[in-house]
Amino acid sequence: MFDYSFVFGVGLSSFLICMVNLIYTFIQGRTDKTHNRIFITLYILLAVNAITEFVSSIYANDTTLSDEAQMVVQVCKYIYFATHTVLCPLFFYYVSNISFASTRLSNIKMIIISIPLFITELMALTNPLTNFVWSFGDNGVYSREWGLTLIYIAAAIYYIMAIVVLVDSWKVISGKRKGALIFFVVIVAAGVVIQLLDKSLHVEVLTEVLGLSGVMMSVENEDERLYPRTRFYNREAIILDLGGCLRHNRKLSILMIHINNYDMISRLVESGETNVIIDMISGYLTSVVKRYYVYVPEKATVVITLYDEMGEKADELAEEILKRFDEAWEYKDYSIQLNATVMVADVPSQIKSTSELIYMLESHNRELKGKRLYRDDDLSFIMRRQAIEEAISRGFSENSYEVYYQPTYNLDGSLHGAEALIRMNDKELGKLYPDEFIPVAERSGLIDDIDDFVLEEVCKFIKTGVPARYGVGNINVNLSVQQCMRPGFIEDVTSIVEKYGVKKKCINFEITESIAAGDYEIFGRIISSLKKAGFMFSMDDYGTGYSNVSSVFSLDFDIIKIDKSILWGAEKNELGMTILENTIRMIQQMKRKILVEGVETLEQVRLLERLKVDYLQGYYFSRPIPKNDFVKLISIEKARK
Ligand code: C2E
Ligand code: CA
Ligand code: CA
Repeated sequence: MFDYSFVFGVGLSSFLICMVNLIYTFIQGRTDKTHNRIFITLYILLAVNAITEFVSSIYANDTTLSDEAQMVVQVCKYIYFATHTVLCPLFFYYVSNISFASTRLSNIKMIIISIPLFITELMALTNPLTNFVWSFGDNGVYSREWGLTLIYIAAAIYYIMAIVVLVDSWKVISGKRKGALIFFVVIVAAGVVIQLLDKSLHVEVLTEVLGLSGVMMSVENEDERLYPRTRFYNREAIILDLGGCLRHNRKLSILMIHINNYDMISRLVESGETNVIIDMISGYLTSVVKRYYVYVPEKATVVITLYDEMGEKADELAEEILKRFDEAWEYKDYSIQLNATVMVADVPSQIKSTSELIYMLESHNRELKGKRLYRDDDLSFIMRRQAIEEAISRGFSENSYEVYYQPTYNLDGSLHGAEALIRMNDKELGKLYPDEFIPVAERSGLIDDIDDFVLEEVCKFIKTGVPARYGVGNINVNLSVQQCMRPGFIEDVTSIVEKYGVKKKCINFEITESIAAGDYEIFGRIISSLKKAGFMFSMDDYGTGYSNVSSVFSLDFDIIKIDKSILWGAEKNELGMTILENTIRMIQQMKRKILVEGVETLEQVRLLERLKVDYLQGYYFSRPIPKNDFVKLISIEKARK
């Protein structure tokens, strides 16, 4: 005969685990989001299941039950089935909620989905009248009836729907959450199977309780998504949550607050670990919205998600927040004025992808034009950027790219070389200039292919022998920082050039001053390896960065290209002239060759002749032109001589 103390033990343990986990959840304060509430309801139902199971097992050994005991067992069974029937539907709802899939469920769909639940629940509730699900025979012996099969089938339906939602939302659920949900699905299935094989074991509730413990430890425990102290969500959380909303077409507004003078103020007030500025505004923000709508994706940026306050309401909130920023913030003895920019974007009409969100988060560096509130058309740059990114991706398959050449000249007017400059002609966006698409390509990682393409085109061109025939000794190729930094860059570049059998001294790489200033040590190493291999090097845009002069000149450049702004500045006033003259004099003393860019007029040519620079480049001679035009131009110049 089966030992019923086992069932008692299983029931009691299940109950105790439920209680411990419930108490823990309450202590942690994880009780305010919808999925927290569903989770707690699940646990309460399981606790009730566990109690009824172990209470009824107390009497299981009695063959002759008293009327009272019989009553207790019957009530327990009743409560057990009434509550157990709800578990699987609730788990389905839980999974839908975490993955944001529930937003796709209209009221009608919700009602249709609930039909199996209604029917089976009704069967369980009316069982004392119908005995459809279970019955107690004349001798008080409990037996399962055909209705129970229906309850299992309904449960299986919800269970499978939950799995479908899980698979469907796979990409927008974080790794840890996935693990916990799979664990739950597997362990519950195991429990059901074991129970079916041996009805006397009663492990179903225990496996469900254990599965939920896993869910509690990972899904309900949001430590990875939260900053421990402020309990605001981090960058990963906003990206995953937005991904979930987009996946399931949930509409919302994203309100971003960026503190423009963050660095300056934080230097004044920060004290090591604590983020004083976020602390100051967090108190205010939690008085405006619920804490779990607030994210801090970057140190100076706060994002609020507004699920039910689209359009005008979001605008009103933005105005209200900006008004608060008109006033000072008090911190200890300081009274601090924070300068904030606010953006309000609607999902999915303005933000259609997580990469657009990331772009918006980082936009304060570039696109912003001094406004305080960005809304509607102000945000078109986000869409433009997305369109450009798409154009870049399709660029190679659609032959949108073309390399143009701009000649450079010696001071005596003879041809010296050329700079290769990329152009793009997209079927939708038309002509695009590198100033616009190169930064996009750099951020989205598409720059490598572009830079390789330019180098290959230049090599093919040199290989034809045409440039050398007309006096173009080498061609300049621009390098972007991403390209130089990528592993294997030196090998890649060398192999491309060797593939075409081009002499390395025919390629002159350009690196802009600001890039070189990023990390002298790394660039110094890259440059000296490439120079050792035989390549030439130019420093581009000299005079635009704020680099340390002695560090810049510690790098082994053949030519320094003075930026056009320095040349143009010389025509504006005395000071500009002094800067140009001294810049040139200093570079000459450093024994480097000088090229001046942006030469547009004869006066500028005369000025630079007087200052004895080495090479000139600019519209005065020629704009960047397609290869065929460039060949024509250099052949005419050769003939003229
Ligand atoms: P950059 O390297 O400083 O290139 C010189 C830019 O100045 C070119 O603009 C050129 O058309 C322009 N320019 C030349 N002479 C004059 C002049 O007399 N007056 C005026 N107003 N402008 C002049 P472009 O071709 O639009 O290129 C812009 C930037 O895009 C380049 O600046 C370079 O940083 C980047 N870029 C261009 N092609 C490539 C490439 O193949 N790879 C990479 N990584 N960057 C590129
Ligand atoms: Ca350049
Ligand atoms: Ca330049």
